[in-house]
Amino acid sequence: MKQSDTPVSIDTSLTQIGRDPKSQYGFVNAPIYRGSTVIFDTVEDLQNGRARYHYGTEGTPTISHLENAWSEISGAAGTVLSPSGLGAVSLALMATLKSGDHLLMTDSVYRPTREFCRDFLERFGVEITYYDPMVGAGISELIKENTSTIFLEAPGSQSFEVQDVPAITEIAKARGIKTIIDNTWATPLFFKAHEHGCDLSVEAGTKYLGGHSDLLMGLVTANEETWPALRKVYDNLGMLPGAEDCFLALRGLRTLHIRLKEAQSRALELANWLQEQPEVIKILHPAFPDCPGHEFWKRDFTGSTGLFSVVLDPKYNSTGLANMLDNMRIFGMGYSWGGFESLVIPFDCSSYRTVTDWNPGGLTIRLQVGLEDLEDIKQDLRDGLDRLSV
Ligand SMILES: *Cc1c(COP(=O)(O)O)cnc(C)c1O
Repeated sequence: MKQSDTPVSIDTSLTQIGRDPKSQYGFVNAPIYRGSTVIFDTVEDLQNGRARYHYGTEGTPTISHLENAWSEISGAAGTVLSPSGLGAVSLALMATLKSGDHLLMTDSVYRPTREFCRDFLERFGVEITYYDPMVGAGISELIKENTSTIFLEAPGSQSFEVQDVPAITEIAKARGIKTIIDNTWATPLFFKAHEHGCDLSVEAGTKYLGGHSDLLMGLVTANEETWPALRKVYDNLGMLPGAEDCFLALRGLRTLHIRLKEAQSRALELANWLQEQPEVIKILHPAFPDCPGHEFWKRDFTGSTGLFSVVLDPKYNSTGLANMLDNMRIFGMGYSWGGFESLVIPFDCSSYRTVTDWNPGGLTIRLQVGLEDLEDIKQDLRDGLDRLSV
């Protein structure tokens, strides 16, 4: 699309990348390619693999559009896709680990990632040590001879600790250790993982890229040095999303910046309002000074999104919380986030953390702010908070 080499802003870029009207009879959007077999013209072409595409598992033009677009906004050498965010996490880990290796995993990690480590990686002889997400440069003391990978997530799922990413990636780089970050919350628009030294970056496209709670998608980007290993695992596994989901993700890309900015301002307004409610003792949101690692968010991130947690006064109990959450009118109760609708879940990290204590000081809920009228959302929460006293 671009007529000159002048760099364009990301907002402009999001409207141009991942499509090529000239090869689409002028139509604005790329068509959906579905396919397994690719036909070769001659025996010579077939035997020498002389074709842009060779077989469906390797990708299609639809998949390439999404991969290339995501690489561009991520500042990455390449992207591979996965049918889910969890699939993307496992792809990334399999790209850097082998039997006998040691993995350093943040204790704040998305819980299914922890389960993949326990149920799968350990079975294949990977040794895992969990570390305090706030460890920073202290990570160097946990590195062993066989440490090959450090996995980060910033901010932490549910608990929102923001890690000092550059402190960790700098040490990893000096020791020849690969770093992977789960960047789902910030997306490449609000945190440039590769610029901050990460080798691989994972995005659950299920969340903001999809944006409508109607698709599952994972993306992993790599820097130049790690790209061949990532692409190899992807080619070996042959696990890729369907064409329709890639098309929906490309559609989501066009409005990603608008939706993120809206999520940001709504979540900030709601979090500020919640902080004033007498039932709330703390807001866990990276843009709030109370949040562990707030200073790293301020230094390294360029925005915040629509997911944060709230700590309730310890005088409320789980019966009161159930009374609140069972009767919400707008907030649905369910996992995932990044869609157009508001969601809430109760959570308790103490049930699965292994090296850090989780003592937030009261019961905790996580909110995903949707696109409903903010006054309606506040009223739903206000009524809910009133139901906490039982
Ligand atoms: C949702 C999520 C995932 C997994 O994505 P799915 O597509 O639901 O498998 C991974 N990491 C984080 C931080 C998530 O929030």
